[in-house]
Amino acid sequence: VRPSRAVLFDLFGTLVEVDAERLPTIDVGGGPRPSTLPRWASLLDRYVGPTSPHAVIAAFGDAREPPTADRLAERASRLRFRAMLGRLGCAPTLLDEAAVVLSRAHMAAIADATAVPASHHVVLDAARCVGRVGIVTNFDDTAGAYAILARHGLLARVDTVAVSEAIGRRKPHPLPVVAALRSLEVEPGDAVLIGDGVQADVGAARAAGVRAVLVRRDDAADTRPPEDVVVVRRLSDVPAALGW
Ligand SMILES: [Mg+2]
Repeated sequence: VRPSRAVLFDLFGTLVEVDAERLPTIDVGGGPRPSTLPRWASLLDRYVGPTSPHAVIAAFGDAREPPTADRLAERASRLRFRAMLGRLGCAPTLLDEAAVVLSRAHMAAIADATAVPASHHVVLDAARCVGRVGIVTNFDDTAGAYAILARHGLLARVDTVAVSEAIGRRKPHPLPVVAALRSLEVEPGDAVLIGDGVQADVGAARAAGVRAVLVRRDDAADTRPPEDVVVVRRLSDVPAALGW
């Protein structure tokens, strides 16, 4: 291991896959769609009484923060739930408790829908031979991200974790990347960030002065990456593409 190098991984859609088919579904018009809501519906009923999925979705929409200059600020999941619960008439004395209880149930449902293919574990181990390894992820619940890493045996194999909720800013803001590199004591020029988002991952990497690798399964999706970005089809193509 050369400690002066770092490999940073995006989490969702890169190292960890979220299988929407493992989520329950709701129908709010237009057919069934995946949602965690059925997993916390009975808890919601305890705090606000009977309500419809449609009303819950609408309350989440109404509870959206007004747009600010800082559009890359991260808002914690429990605060989104708190605002939604307020819209649905939850008693003020119960808001803090209900927000945390529902957000945690939501996170547990997401964690249950995650999977890590064996080939991704191989890539992580290859990265550990290259340098220090970090996770740099957009997610609105830091504990939820750690729980997913722990569940799949990833947490003990990475040297740092930067979650947007704990950092306060979302990629493509460079701060999550910068924070991870400072923890690893690696300079941006000695690091690579691997992710599946042109905007979020490539954007954050470039803003932080870090080389980017884009995992792009579908050519039609998203916008075109800049010329100097390494593009691969699968995460398992990364070691060969980078000459590890
Ligand atoms: Mg991603």
